Amino acid sequence: MFDALYLEKTDAGFSATRRSLSEDELKNATPDADVTLRVEYSALNYKDALALTNRSPVVRRWPMVPGIDGAGIVEESTHAGFAPGDRVILNGWGVGETHWGCLAQRARLRGDWLVPLPDGLDTRRAMAIGTAGYTAMLCVMMLQRQGVTPAQGEILVTGAAGGVGSVAVALLARLGYRVVASTGRRSEEAYLRGLGASEILDRAELSQPGKPLQKERWAGVVDAVGSHTLANACAQTRYRGTVTACGLAQGMDFPASVAPFILRGVKLIGVDSVMCPIEDRREAWSRLARELDHDALERITQVVGLDDALRLAPELLAGNVRGRTAVDVNR
Ligand code: NDP
Repeated sequence: MFDALYLEKTDAGFSATRRSLSEDELKNATPDADVTLRVEYSALNYKDALALTNRSPVVRRWPMVPGIDGAGIVEESTHAGFAPGDRVILNGWGVGETHWGCLAQRARLRGDWLVPLPDGLDTRRAMAIGTAGYTAMLCVMMLQRQGVTPAQGEILVTGAAGGVGSVAVALLARLGYRVVASTGRRSEEAYLRGLGASEILDRAELSQPGKPLQKERWAGVVDAVGSHTLANACAQTRYRGTVTACGLAQGMDFPASVAPFILRGVKLIGVDSVMCPIEDRREAWSRLARELDHDALERITQVVGLDDALRLAPELLAGNVRGRTAVDVNR
């Protein structure tokens, strides 16, 4: 038997509980898996919080064990790429949505989904980074692939005190970019400056409807917020600058005009972590192991147990959780 968070929808409604499950239940729920993982750490991501609170239709199969990411040790494998004892990371691929996930002491996964834990990371650090941090790195990679360099100007990071934002600020500052962190929490100014932000912008300056073209400021943008914030970020991006869009904390809408794209050659790049090809995942994780300052990661991270993940989910959605929340599934 092993412990897991368990989401159910019955005639009595939705429930999210911690419970003990059997290996047989896990096997029956994951017939296409070829690797059994002893999960050590998972994380509380924005999407997990949506699933745990049933706030939006993240879960598409019931009952579900949530947890879109995890890191642990391979226990059994019939996949050629992995053997018992290997340490691995899992992000996305519908895990925690359509396939039983990692907010559990055991998970059965497909070897094709796994990335070997790179040197320089342990499973705790990997999940302190988690899907949010790995997505932040994908955004950084996209900015760099578009040729955005520190010499070209400032980078705007929105939702800066959240998981994606915190890691993006730390990574970009370490790479030598001047980072402007947009946050709704003035109280997090010292935290964000500690991660390397040069300037703090009140998110209210970006969150209201704005003009289609505004004063050019950003060489690049990492946006975790969407809606008017993304529209204003595009309207303020410099000639041929690049905006990466990965989140919807303000909203899923995009009330913008084409003006920044057709008059300034601004590029808007969507960043998806869930179905991202394995080569980009490997690159992102090996760069995170090398380039994310470990002290900064510690400052960003809190580690909680499975019960706490349930308790913290609504807080995270309310924007009250700072940085990253790793989950020690054995707690
Ligand atoms: P967090 O909840 O940790 O952070 C989100 C941050 O957004 C908050 O901390 C807050 O930052 C800001 N925010 C919250 N509400 C609002 C609002 N109404 N208006 C403006 N800003 C707001 O989540 P994550 O960082 O983990 O994820 C951020 C987004 O990225 C989510 O939408 C998530 O779904 C998405 N995401 C997408 C992925 C992908 O594959 N594309 C992968 C991972 C995440 P502050 O307090 O600093 O203002």
